[in-house]
Amino acid sequence: MSLEKMRNIGIMAHIDAGKTTTTERILYYSGKIHKIGEIDDGAATMDFMKQEQERGITIGSAAITTEWKNHQINIIDTPGHVDFTAEVERSLRVLDGAVAVICAVGHVQPQTETVWKQADRFNVPRICFVNKMDRIGADFFGAVEDVKAKFGCETVAMQIPMGSGGDFEGVIDLLKMKEIRWDAETEGEKFTESDISEKYASLASEWHEKMIDAIASVDDELGEIYLEGGDISADQIKKALRKAVLSRTIVPFFLGSSRHNQGVQPLMDAIIDYLPAPDEVPPAAGLHIKKNDEEKIDVVCDPDAKTPVALVFKISYDPQMGMLCYVRMYSGKISNGTMVYNVGKKKRERVNRILRVNANHMEQMDSVSAGDIAVFVGFKLAQTGDSIGSEGFPVLLESVKFPEPVISIAIEPETMSDRDKLMETLDVLTHEDPTFIYKDDAETGQLVISGMGELHLDVLVTRIRDDFKVQCRVGAPQVTYRESVTAPADTDVNYERTIGGKEVTAKLSLHVEPCETGKGNIYTCGVKRDSSIPDEIYDAVEQSITNCFAGGIKFGYPCADVSVTLTALSFDPLTGTTFAYEAAAAQAFDEACTKANPQMLEPVMEVDIESPSEFTGEAMSAITQRGGMISSMEDKSGGSIIHAQAPMVKMFGFSTNLRSVTQGRASFGMTFSHFQIKA
Ligand code: GDP
Ligand code: MG
Repeated sequence: MSLEKMRNIGIMAHIDAGKTTTTERILYYSGKIHKIGEIDDGAATMDFMKQEQERGITIGSAAITTEWKNHQINIIDTPGHVDFTAEVERSLRVLDGAVAVICAVGHVQPQTETVWKQADRFNVPRICFVNKMDRIGADFFGAVEDVKAKFGCETVAMQIPMGSGGDFEGVIDLLKMKEIRWDAETEGEKFTESDISEKYASLASEWHEKMIDAIASVDDELGEIYLEGGDISADQIKKALRKAVLSRTIVPFFLGSSRHNQGVQPLMDAIIDYLPAPDEVPPAAGLHIKKNDEEKIDVVCDPDAKTPVALVFKISYDPQMGMLCYVRMYSGKISNGTMVYNVGKKKRERVNRILRVNANHMEQMDSVSAGDIAVFVGFKLAQTGDSIGSEGFPVLLESVKFPEPVISIAIEPETMSDRDKLMETLDVLTHEDPTFIYKDDAETGQLVISGMGELHLDVLVTRIRDDFKVQCRVGAPQVTYRESVTAPADTDVNYERTIGGKEVTAKLSLHVEPCETGKGNIYTCGVKRDSSIPDEIYDAVEQSITNCFAGGIKFGYPCADVSVTLTALSFDPLTGTTFAYEAAAAQAFDEACTKANPQMLEPVMEVDIESPSEFTGEAMSAITQRGGMISSMEDKSGGSIIHAQAPMVKMFGFSTNLRSVTQGRASFGMTFSHFQIKA
């Protein structure tokens, strides 16, 4: 399929706005599934995991390919739950355009806001679908206004509803100036277009004018013709609108009721008409890794490029096939059975199979090229966020920055014989989800898993039990601390051992110092690489320091905001080994960090509380009693939003507390902000 006929899109929404239902209807009308499975029976195709169906939320962001009017549409599923923002961001990273599904009754809801702002950060062009027009109180124009008011963007209604709630009949297409009604007998597969009836004539022409006016005001060419009173064709409008959506100057609105099979086909047309092809978005930002240096480059979407550049954006585990790596191709081509290079891990891996995920089956492919999305089978090392390419032209793609795990629980198998299986399972899960980590504490023999929130860990534990069939017990959730240094320090290590009668040596110096809060851990090779010293020696030092960052300083918590620089390294070709340099680096790290006045850090959370005015006082004292610092307040119709920061350790059980002091009327959201020295 040529690039022009390809779309990579995401469907984003607040939970329950109808994302799954809409996706499923799209798959049905494009002929990829043959029966409409009701979401309420938990039979939806996109929701792969059983657990999602039970919870009614979509956790994983699987990609599904479908076809519509001779175009290939890859639908990347974006989860709606705030505990899974990393999942949302990783899918936003690889999609080129999005459909925002908004409930006609609820309008812009808190998660729509979160996801919308994330999509802004990733410059994702989007169109809106106002769903649930059949519900009592449905208000299409109110939904458009709400988006405009909350996000300050230009909007344009491309359709208007005929009736609403129980009287919702269908839509008026303002471009074609036709009434469209769907046939309930064929589950909406058939629909009829008819001329505008007298009943809607004046409303339709009023909104037709408004539509042209809105588009003409963001497109100079159209604006000129419009001002001169010239004729504007539907094609001219479409072209101008496409340009404006791509440059993110306007958001067009469509509407319907997915559940009642109304309005979905025009939405599919709109995806093709107004959302970008892979080569119509700005090139991906990459870092070309050279021997002593690196260079920022633009990765242009070119299927004929000689070397491939791709990103692993999702890993999921299949009991039969093993690790499934969802890959977005940015440049070049990768064929079945070839070796590719994992740029970050500096290792080669084989692509055993390339699959395309259709709604109801996996299809084998010989190769996959720039712009497209596919699943690779056969990787063992790859993790979500890894860049894949070639050794000759290694490029690191800008990866999503994942939030830090802030909550931990101890986990143990019910029977000790299950311990190995549990370890294997935890290993699989860390490949899938970079915001999840586990640690095997050598001293206590305890296994500890960490994640971003209570729900996140809850979901993972349920998967361990149900999907991987490992019975286990878990402890109470605890805060995950970090360790950092507060002063600069230097060490020199002269490592000499005799191993198996052979002398091994390594000599190096390290400098450690604290770095800016939130910077993470940084390793810098501060010496000029000597070409007579093998690359593996430098790599061994880097790898060892990376492991030290994970292992901590005094208490075994992971490090945060520690900067380590290699300041000197000498090498004896007779006795120098990678093992010796790994050990020497670890020893130097320990010595230097111990001198650098190490401290424990605790996670501080950003807490946003939404409360009706009569309970604002109670909500404020609830958060300040937990050590929260209020940073700002915002007025919202009938209430206020309180923005505060509070230490995670004080936030357990806050939802019950807040509910009881506000009679259940206030709600809150919480995300990781930063680490600070523990009080
Ligand atoms: P998601 O959480 O955004 O994926 O939402 P779902 O697609 O799972 O839908 C949530 C609930 O809303 C389900 O009970 C659906 O049957 C229902 N629903 C979806 N679309 C419509 C619609 O157009 N009208 C009505 N009345 N209900 C809908
Ligand atoms: Mg869903």
